[in-house]
Amino acid sequence: MRDADFFRRWLDAAAAAVEREADRLTELDSPIGDADHGSNLLRGFVAVRAALAGADASAPPGALLQLAGRTLISTVGGASGPLYGTLLRRTGKELGEAAEVSDEQVREALDAGVDAVARLGGAAPGDKTMLDALVPGVAALATSYADAADAADAGAVATTPMLARKGRASYLGERSIGHQDPGATSSALLLRALADAAG
Ligand code: ADP
Ligand code: MG
Ligand code: MG
Repeated sequence: MRDADFFRRWLDAAAAAVEREADRLTELDSPIGDADHGSNLLRGFVAVRAALAGADASAPPGALLQLAGRTLISTVGGASGPLYGTLLRRTGKELGEAAEVSDEQVREALDAGVDAVARLGGAAPGDKTMLDALVPGVAALATSYADAADAADAGAVATTPMLARKGRASYLGERSIGHQDPGATSSALLLRALADAAG
């Protein structure tokens, strides 16, 4: 079973990964975007760390994820803020009030979270967005957290030859081909952080 500490460790590892990789995420957002993905997520996850530090010590997993999601929505200006915020809020909502949840519940909740991201952004796998890492990553959770992280990494790499159909990169049309999607790259970091928390 996974308790609130597991989810705190996940979000903490995610914040550390964003801090470490912010420059690279912004560089990936330079040729096919507006060069702010790393700074957007850095601002968001610094605020998530602060919000979690201030959260009630007895807050259950669902409440922590919803708090993190709300924090991303209110602090990240770019497209990725509402999208990642929705991912965490919806996942947290699915987990409800339970103090401990099973890995199967984590998987089902993340699955609902990813569906909510797809509905909000109107994107599907193959459109060169974060969904190209999130969808295969969450599907591979059925096997293990480590497999989920590996599948998300592979999904992010696989965005390079894709033509962008959603978000800023889609404005470039054919010129979006040949660059790895920054949001798919940060999604792979999030799922790697989850695997790290799972140990
Ligand atoms: P902005 O494009 O507003 O500057 P960011 O640079 O923070 O926002 O985030 C860009 C990332 O957001 C993209 O690389 C892509 O993965 C993701 N993204 C953009 N639009 C969508 C969408 N409609 N659906 C899913 N993901 C999207
Ligand atoms: Mg951007
Ligand atoms: Mg922007």
